Formats: sequence, C-alpha cells, structure tokens
Amino acid sequence: MAEPMLSNNDKENFKIITTYIPKELLNKLPFAIYTCNADGYIESFNDAAVELWGRSPEIGKDLWCGSWKIVNDDGTYRELTAYPMARTLWERTKIEAEEILIERPDGTRRYLIAHPEPIFNSSGSLIGAVNTLVDITEQKNSEEKHAMLAAIIESSVDAIISKTLKGIITSWNIGAEQIFGYSESEVIGKHISILIPPNRIQEENIIINNIKSGNRVEHFETIRIAKNGREIPISLTVSPIKNSRGQIIGASKIARDITIQNEARQKLHLYNKQLEKINSYKDEFIGMASHELKTPLTSVNLYLQMLQRSETNEQNKKFITQSVSQLNKLNCLVSDLLDVSKIQSGKLLLRPASFEVNELIYEVAKIMQETNNSHFIEIENDLTNRKFIIADKHRLEQVMINLLTNAIKYSPNSDRIVVSVIDKVEKIKISITDFGIGVPEDQQEKIFTRFYRIEELGPSYSGLGIGLYISSEIITSHGGHLWVESIPGKGSTFSFEIPITQ
Ligand code: ADP
Repeated sequence: MAEPMLSNNDKENFKIITTYIPKELLNKLPFAIYTCNADGYIESFNDAAVELWGRSPEIGKDLWCGSWKIVNDDGTYRELTAYPMARTLWERTKIEAEEILIERPDGTRRYLIAHPEPIFNSSGSLIGAVNTLVDITEQKNSEEKHAMLAAIIESSVDAIISKTLKGIITSWNIGAEQIFGYSESEVIGKHISILIPPNRIQEENIIINNIKSGNRVEHFETIRIAKNGREIPISLTVSPIKNSRGQIIGASKIARDITIQNEARQKLHLYNKQLEKINSYKDEFIGMASHELKTPLTSVNLYLQMLQRSETNEQNKKFITQSVSQLNKLNCLVSDLLDVSKIQSGKLLLRPASFEVNELIYEVAKIMQETNNSHFIEIENDLTNRKFIIADKHRLEQVMINLLTNAIKYSPNSDRIVVSVIDKVEKIKISITDFGIGVPEDQQEKIFTRFYRIEELGPSYSGLGIGLYISSEIITSHGGHLWVESIPGKGSTFSFEIPITQ
C-alpha cells in the first residue's frame, strides 16, 4: 500500500468528513456507509453498517471491512487484500457496484453491492476511502427463487400453462410442448380453446367461472386435443393467478397426460372383474362341493351308528366311536363351508322363534363341558327373571359353540372360561372370556373377515378362519354386533349384543 502523503491539516480534514458529519444524518441513511483512512483502518461508520456487519468494528484496529469475511463464489473466504475497499485504496480508483457476499460473526450471510471510492486531499494525495453498501439479499433470494421456479416449470413433464381470464395463453412450458405438440411461439396469444374438443368447450366456461370466484379446479379428468389431432386424456388442476393487489388476473393450469394411468386403470378394472368371476366360481364350487359332501357324510354317520349298536367287540367299538367323533368334526367343517357359501349368496336364512335366554346358555355350556375336560366353564348370570328372546336359537347356539371352541383352543395354558350374560332390557349381551394368548390390537377387526387367521400362530392351531366370520354374520343378521376386547398374553373377551325382538 502506498504511504499517503498527509499533512496534519489533511488528517484533520479527513476526520472532519468522517467523524464529524452529523451522526444523526448518517444514521438516518437506509444503507450502510463507512470510511477508512489511507492505511485501510476503519474510521467511521453508520448504524446501518453495524447492523449489516453484525458487529461494531474497532476504530483504528479493523481493516477495510467491518464484517471480517467475504465469501467467494466457490465458497472459500476471500483474501483481505482482494476486498473492494482494499483494492480501491491500492488502485486509487472507484469500484463500480461490486456484488459481494459477506459472512457475519453469527454465521449468517448477506448479499451486498459495494461502491468504494477513494478520497483525495486538495493536493491530490490519497487520504482514505468511503464505501456504501446496499443490502440486496431479499432481491437476490427472490431472484433465486424465481430462477428455481422457472427451472422447475421448464423441467416439468406436466404441461404448465398460464392464461388470462379471457382464455388467452400467456405462457407455455416444455412439458406443454411435449404433450400437445405446439411450440411456445405457436400458442402464445392464442385462445386456450385450440386444445379443447368442440364437444367439451363449455368446460372452459365452468373452469373460468370457478377461477373468477377464487376457487381451484383440482384433478379434473378430461380430454384435450394435441396439434396432430390426437385426443389425450389429461388430469387438470387450475388455480387463480393474483396480482400484487390480490386481484385475479388469470389462471395457471397444470395438465398431466394420464394415458398410461388410464390404461393401467382399465387393466386393473378388467383384472378385478376376472378376479370377481374366479372368486364367484370358487364360492360356487365350495357351495356345491360342501352340499355334495353332506349326503355321503350323513349316510356314513348313520351306518356307523348302526354298527356301534350291533358291535360287541370292545376294541372295534372304540374304533367306531373314534370314527364317529372324527366324522362329526368333518361334518362341522362341511357345514361351516356351506354356511360361508350361503352367506356369500345371501341365502343364510334365519328361523326366529321365542325361547328363554337361559335355555340357550345352559344347554350350550352343558354340551361344551361334556365334550371338554381341559377347561371349567363358569356362568355369571345377570338374569333375575326368565328372559325371552325372539331369535334363531340354532344359529345362536352355533355362535356360542364357535366362541367357546375358540376360547378353549386359544387358551392352552389356562383352565377357565367365563360366560357372562347381561340383561340390557331391550337387548341381551353375552360375553365369553378366556385367559389365553389374546389377539393383537391391529388384527382385532380383521379376524371377523372370511378366511382370516393370525399368521404368527403357525400351524399349531388348526382352523379355516371362518368361524368368527359366520358368527359375526349371524349376529349382524339378528340386528346385533359381535366384537372382541383382548390383551395379548392375557386373554380375550368376545361379546355379542342382540335385541330381544327383531
Ligand atoms: P379359526 O379358529 O378356525 O382359525 P376363526 O374365524 O374362529 O377361525 O378365528 C379367526 C382367528 O381369530 C383365529 O385363527 C385366531 O387367530 C383368532 N382367534 C379367534 N378366537 C380367539 C381367541 N379366543 N383367542 C385368541 N385368538 C383367537
């Protein structure tokens, strides 16, 4: 740096410029201003400079720039000697509006325009420099934002088009060019109707009326025409464009070519139809097969019973009893399958009749207790009087047997089941509680659907996953509902409520 030729008088003059310009005036300026002496030490500055730099420089100690750091385009910090103020002093020339990025002590960064200018004394010697700094961070950010938005619009595969409220196209991106085949210059200034098939022209009025009332049109699926006449299925989203005063001045429109999605949707629809058909064949087959199995099963059962009566050999008698028991199991399975098929075809008929609730409870509990000695079935009965109900007793027995069979099956380490009956005047509530493995919360609804079994249980628990489905359907057709409350590892309570008359 050249040693400035300063007389004492010059130094005084400079101080007068820098230090004694009324501080109030300097501080009123909307931009930062500061001065350095010929050696580059900061001599004076206004409040806006302090705010911009994020610190107050030390007079006579800090060089050229109050913020300390200027960041280069590549992210490195600039050498002190390359700062605009340093160069101005060094080269003794004014620098016209240099854009810089400073980093403040707290790490935040601001974009500035620096205007450093050397100051000479009357005899032409350099006595210092003055620099004004204009903060352009906001403009810069909004410029960057605009540039980014423009890049997004340009790179979008969707057509992004803007138009006036009269439908005149004002902008057209590359996506629009690719979908509709028109170049930007071919469509700007033209009416949007060049893309609309004649039989859909009224759609434009509906869209524009929505836009005028400030509403968006979202995912509106329609057809538009490309330059080559091809009809393109598109999904349209149109939003109002407002000026700075909030007035609606046009509409922006995003059009997505949904040809591929439509084809996929059609295929899916077709597959669904085919699946439904296959499913109905399967239901039909289950119905027919279980129906056909019923007759031979009944005959075998009959013959076995006859054999049982006439057989005298104890060993053979035992074999026949075991065969009858296995046959009963098979019979139950076939009946359940037949029920599923009846439910599917809406043919599960109820035969309602009046009977006493206690009859149902005690009869079922007795049958179940006789055939199971692993668990003790307790009954907690709230019914003080004889309570009659109109329902299909046989079907309700089936539900209770299902629930009790499950309660026994899924509580291998416990020996207790509780059946509780609660009189709710117009309704009756029956619950079956076990102290077994329980049902995880996320599967408590699913277990009532057809063929659903909890997979994690593995093959140790046999079943088809239809008992609860059938039970739930029976209860629903009685105008009631069936549900479960359960804590895994602690047990489950399956309850159903039905009105006493339907
Ligand atoms: P299945 O018992 O033949 O599998 P269900 O329709 O009766 O068919 O039951 C569906 C599933 O619900 C069972 O596979 C089992 O995982 C679960 N589940 C039913 N009852 C209980 C219970 N009391 N405790 C624990 N899990 C149960």
